[in-house]
Amino acid sequence: MKILVLNSGSSSIKYKLFDAQKRSERLLDKGIVDRIGEKTPGHKEAIDFILSKIGAKIEAVGHRVVHGGDKFSESVLIDKNVIKAIEDFTELAPLHNPPGLLTISESRKILSGIPHVAVFDTAFYYDMPEHAYIYAIPYKFYEKYKIRKYGFHGTSHRYVSERAACLLKRPLNRLRLITCHLGNGCSITAVKNGKAIDTSMGFTPLEGLVMGTRSGDLDPAIIPYVMEKENIGVNAVMEILNKKSGLLGVSGLSNDMRELMKAKAENKRAGLALDIFIYRIKKYIGSYAGVMSGCDAVIFTGGIGENNPGLVEKICKGVVSKDTKALVISTDEELMIARDTYKIAEIRKT
Ligand code: ADP
Repeated sequence: MKILVLNSGSSSIKYKLFDAQKRSERLLDKGIVDRIGEKTPGHKEAIDFILSKIGAKIEAVGHRVVHGGDKFSESVLIDKNVIKAIEDFTELAPLHNPPGLLTISESRKILSGIPHVAVFDTAFYYDMPEHAYIYAIPYKFYEKYKIRKYGFHGTSHRYVSERAACLLKRPLNRLRLITCHLGNGCSITAVKNGKAIDTSMGFTPLEGLVMGTRSGDLDPAIIPYVMEKENIGVNAVMEILNKKSGLLGVSGLSNDMRELMKAKAENKRAGLALDIFIYRIKKYIGSYAGVMSGCDAVIFTGGIGENNPGLVEKICKGVVSKDTKALVISTDEELMIARDTYKIAEIRKT
């Protein structure tokens, strides 16, 4: 079955084309259309371009959707109700859900009559225990506004945990794993017996690890304090926490790990940014190993996790015991999306 996977951002659509069978998939093509709005007028034209480039007869389409709110525990066949639900969660993911929705509606028009499947970044965290996802603020805010930990990057964490079980030759439902997705965005997940039991990203992707430009965890009292001192509003302070903090904010140099690695010998703050980055990951690994009463393997993935053996070694030093394996695994969110799409499309056929 030829499956097209679409992963949409506000100004780009990444795609991969797979030939999927029951137990195997072959990558046939991949690419990216970027600078939508500049090079191509809109998402519709970008999809037309991808289809003309591929030329194959597509039998199903898998879509990455960032926020499935508290509604989707797994991937689903897209219909009007699903679209309405994703629209409802736009308020929670104002940057991410709208481009995904646009791609879904345009591609359903162009590729009508075949199954389209939504695969949610949040679905892996749907079944987390309440004590992990409820914040210790008045409970009414959860009831009124759905404020809870949602978690993100779930498709990547799910993929690398399945792959780790394969490499370790042990059943996933008997493993305690800690998966570290370290890219521009960074998150870490405790996976016990195949289920995510806690994760570092929260109500939004801002919580948790130090990232390229995001602060991760901090004392919330800092926010009104800075707003008052700097005489700035909510948008400006959110821009600082999302776009001007993290590795970039501390180093004052770059959000890019490669740049910081190069600069750290002469630039003290580049070194400090790296130290904070590593220290935060160590703290999370330690606490997740604590709540799982141990850990069989720590998995590293994402641009930073996959390409920096020295950094991985530093993270593991002292926190990973001799019974714990450290694995580096290339993530493949699109492959995971293709697998889910295949399963749902096959069920629909029968
Ligand atoms: P995104 O989250 O946008 O998908 P990536 O997973 O590509 O990002 O990760 C980007 C990060 O990975 C950057 O900090 C970059 O410096 C780092 N990175 C990518 N390739 C390498 C490499 N070969 N060596 C060191 N760091 C790398």
